[in-house]
Amino acid sequence: MTEYQEITREPYLTTVLYYKHQTFPWKSGKVVLSGSPDGTKSVNIGWKIEILNARDQSRMFSFNNTDQIYNCVEKEMPPLNITHLLSEGSNTLFIRFVRPCFVTYKMQDIGPMYVVHFDDYEISDDPFLDLPWDYAGDGRIFDDVAIRMSSYFDHEYPLLSTKLREPNEFKFSVFSFRSDQRSNDLDYSSHDGYDWARSAGAIHLDPVLASAAGWATYHYNKYSGKAIYIDHDNGYQTRYYHLDSDGLVTTSSQKVWVNDRQQIGKVGFTGNVSPTGSKGAHIHFMVIKDKDGNGSFDDNIPDGITDPFGWQAAGSDPWPAYSFTYGGS
Ligand SMILES: [Zn+2]
Repeated sequence: MTEYQEITREPYLTTVLYYKHQTFPWKSGKVVLSGSPDGTKSVNIGWKIEILNARDQSRMFSFNNTDQIYNCVEKEMPPLNITHLLSEGSNTLFIRFVRPCFVTYKMQDIGPMYVVHFDDYEISDDPFLDLPWDYAGDGRIFDDVAIRMSSYFDHEYPLLSTKLREPNEFKFSVFSFRSDQRSNDLDYSSHDGYDWARSAGAIHLDPVLASAAGWATYHYNKYSGKAIYIDHDNGYQTRYYHLDSDGLVTTSSQKVWVNDRQQIGKVGFTGNVSPTGSKGAHIHFMVIKDKDGNGSFDDNIPDGITDPFGWQAAGSDPWPAYSFTYGGS
């Protein structure tokens, strides 16, 4: 069931415009800010929008049109999943539109805006991702390059991003999506994504592309190096590791919207790559499913780590069958 409420407007102040929405009850399901009651249309937000949960002010989101501040260009915001801003119970959201430049801004230019609640939010398994580099521009086809990965997703304990370790008997083997056979590969045992490099045509400093549209954020640690995460707003997030310092679509943890196939960075060798240096340049590509549907992906590592190729061998996939305790749950 889907329900919605139009956000009511309050009189606006000199420098900012306010919308305010009070006592929105939430317990589960996905909540979206949208220009239409069915949650599918973009909203005209003018220059900048800020959304704040009045009860828990650490739950805050802002989206702005940083490229065009001085041009006073009005910005359309795609439907925005705000589930992560809500806490269980009644929520008061303050929604603030910052006045663009110093021009007189007409109230009716913004919105209307709706809070849309998808109660029966189900994550679809329909394919929606493309490969994260411009193989077609090199005259190559998906089926040819997709299988030229330099390392597989290990269907036995893909725990590389966690502090967990594989049991000893699985420590030196990889179980790939097309095989019922373990192959011995110490380096890639427990790998939680796919690596594509030169043999697939993903060459050092080539553009890395968004595998689908979504909200991009920047992250860094010494293993993944410079990384972009994209929340596709459908229950899946993709991650792109080891990017070069140059050409990043954002270097902030603030979300920015990226279109399908938009450049988000360049193939690099930051973080932990082997061999070190430009010979080790590759894209480490990961897919994470928001299995508990709470709008956060960090709490679905490792259980939400997903092989984008699925499982294509005759036997059953060992990975979803494992159970373990992590972070107390
Ligand atoms: Zn990798």
